[in-house]
Amino acid sequence: MKTKSPQLTILPFVLFQVFAFLLFTKPVLANESWPEEGPWVVKAYYPNLEKGRAMASLLAPWEFHQNEGYFLLEVNMDLMDRLVEEGFQLELDLKKTEKLAAHRHSIPGQRAGIPGYPCYRTVEETYLMAQQLVSDYPDLAEWTEIGSSWEKTQDPDQGYPIMVLHLSNRQITVQKPVFMAISAIHSREYTTAELMSRFAEYLLENYGRDADATWLLDYRDIYLVLHANPDGRKKAETGLSWRKNTNSDECSSGTAPDGPGIDLNRNFPFQWNCCGGSSSSPCSVTYHGSSAASEPETQAIIDFARLVIPDQRADDLVSPAPLDTVGVFLDIHSYGGDVLWPWGYSPSTPPPNENGLYRYARKLAYFNGYNPGGSFGAVDGATKDFAYGEFGVPSYTIELGTAFFQDCSVFENTILPDNIQMMLYAIKSCSAPYMISKGPNAHSIAYTQMGQAQGKITATFDDSLYATSNGTEPYQNIVETRLTIGTPPFITGSTPLNMTPVDGQWDHYLEQAEADIDLTSLGVGSHPVFVQGKDADGNWGSITSCFIHVLSDTTYIEGTIREEGSYAPVTATVRAGDFETTSDAGGAYRLYVTPGTYDLEFTAENYRPETVMAVQVQENQAVTSNIYLKPYCAFFEDDFEQGLNGWTADGSWAISDEDVHAGTYAWSDSPGGNYTANQDTYLVSPILDLTDAEDVNLSFWCKFDLETGYDYVYLEYRIDGGSWVREDSFNGTQSNWELYSTTLPALNNQSNVQIRFYLHSDGSVFGDGFHLDDFTLKGTGPSCSQEMSWEVLLESWPTFNILYMISSINNQP
Ligand SMILES: [Zn+2]
Repeated sequence: MKTKSPQLTILPFVLFQVFAFLLFTKPVLANESWPEEGPWVVKAYYPNLEKGRAMASLLAPWEFHQNEGYFLLEVNMDLMDRLVEEGFQLELDLKKTEKLAAHRHSIPGQRAGIPGYPCYRTVEETYLMAQQLVSDYPDLAEWTEIGSSWEKTQDPDQGYPIMVLHLSNRQITVQKPVFMAISAIHSREYTTAELMSRFAEYLLENYGRDADATWLLDYRDIYLVLHANPDGRKKAETGLSWRKNTNSDECSSGTAPDGPGIDLNRNFPFQWNCCGGSSSSPCSVTYHGSSAASEPETQAIIDFARLVIPDQRADDLVSPAPLDTVGVFLDIHSYGGDVLWPWGYSPSTPPPNENGLYRYARKLAYFNGYNPGGSFGAVDGATKDFAYGEFGVPSYTIELGTAFFQDCSVFENTILPDNIQMMLYAIKSCSAPYMISKGPNAHSIAYTQMGQAQGKITATFDDSLYATSNGTEPYQNIVETRLTIGTPPFITGSTPLNMTPVDGQWDHYLEQAEADIDLTSLGVGSHPVFVQGKDADGNWGSITSCFIHVLSDTTYIEGTIREEGSYAPVTATVRAGDFETTSDAGGAYRLYVTPGTYDLEFTAENYRPETVMAVQVQENQAVTSNIYLKPYCAFFEDDFEQGLNGWTADGSWAISDEDVHAGTYAWSDSPGGNYTANQDTYLVSPILDLTDAEDVNLSFWCKFDLETGYDYVYLEYRIDGGSWVREDSFNGTQSNWELYSTTLPALNNQSNVQIRFYLHSDGSVFGDGFHLDDFTLKGTGPSCSQEMSWEVLLESWPTFNILYMISSINNQP
């Protein structure tokens, strides 16, 4: 990625007085740099660190840049005035100001999610999703009301209930360690609730498939408050920079983030309003409320946390919680890329469990790559001090990503995968977080079949996995590793087997270990295996697991795969859970499985994939599942070797030989160089006839370099010359040619279809742009199927219903 230079066509280090003069006495001059209308996003250079921290505590800035001596925040005229009085120098961030001012529009064709941000479900959509999960997984999920939003307390027909999603297998009734997390307490922080929602979906969808997801649901109580501030979130979903709840009792006017509302994350009772870490002005962005826990949202979370998290620490400021403390609490925020530890009320005062809290933060930050540390300025009355202060559990503010209104591509590609791993670790280790975080992480577990009666488990154990960006943790050699089958090692009655080091010696902090498994001792079926390692200080670390599948030659699914229409045999991949096979030249397959219920998936190149849902297989049962696959055929193909071929383009879009996926030519928005400023240019396909096309699929090869977060290529389509519908967007860098493929059901059977690529750029920072090659629209349909041949007919005689064959024969022309 290229580095982005700050946009200093803007006046650097402008003193406010000078700026005010320019803006208000000579607006023409001011127009050259500062937008006339606020709010503005500025870098506020503090006169000294002490003043910087004090103001940050009141203003809740967006970003802290301690090395450069400024923080970034959104300001109105009053706030600018005040900052200048306090000795700050202000510098405009034009890009962020423009982005803040951009009106929030739905993406063309967007049917769900926050307008402009389809990856983030709204409050209503999130609540519906949770209800659906409970209905899909009744033994594993519960959705419970724990209180009301402020608006609901004013009028039962307004506002929202505060809900908690409880994930745990209710069929297993042992005492379970608790993991509790809340999100979106600051409502403009879009990524937070969606991360938690996706995490819940990930766990539930992988129950019985992924061994870790399975044991975490079996042996943990997971409580997720997806929307801690739903009233505020509804405001933020309109594009407002709304942070607080919507309580207007003490401040009734103003523009978000100042204005009505209580900052719920300054309203918690532990050290509430103690130390200048919140504001006493009702309209301020960090207003702490009229009293500790004055807000119904705060009360709901406090009451629920007290119900489910065991109290393991005296509520003073000096008593440590015991090393074997149970439970973890996370408050998910954005943005900044931080794991912030207690104390918030006094960041320079080490908490009594300093070592344990810092170590655990470094462990979490290893997974998401964030910076573990303390708050920049004091933060009092926040959740992390409450949960650690009252209960003694490790408790953090996690600051996701790089923006409040984060682009979906960054969320999907980075924030989500990194933080799902972070949350998995937190839940694995919540039985004794201060202890387990000392021990090695177990990962990369794998099972290999070694003949009929034997198998082998290998896994990696690493004692060194901590973030190192702000301090380091000691680590030791691995000295022992163990394995249990069926139940995790912490369940009474499980019998651990020793694993041995693959290199023959325990002499390193990073070891691969293995153990042979005698399959004759296990019955036919899927058996979870758990591994755990211990370091030289005697600390057992986190567990990882996988399934061993013991197959029987009398338990399988079999059948024949043929092409619909022609009945020709098809060589296809057949998959059921972890099991996979390929059909032979005659289309026949046999897939050995463990007893269970499977979604049986059939995939073959140039055929529409098919899934047969809920195929049940019992021990010693042979189940038959025949399938007919619909062939795809191309309705339009262009490798761009034949010239324009009906495509039209404006701006600098052109066919060139600069960079191609195949052949000699491909399209580029700007052959031979970067795209330029403020482009809105198009490459439009000819009108395409998809009459009789079903299951329409669009694919092409592409690579791109588009300024992250600002410049885009949009993929859009239209029908019958109507409005363009946005299907997808490309942003950031993909430096290799990759195949893009998507189904477009809206185009099925349409006789007048166009596809276009739309380049949009802003005023600064440019990239190489977009390259496009080998464009194909394919689908299924009557014109794709071959007639049945007599050879195939005779060959398939035993397999097919004779009546069907007679009717087919009668249909021959
Ligand atoms: Zn926040």
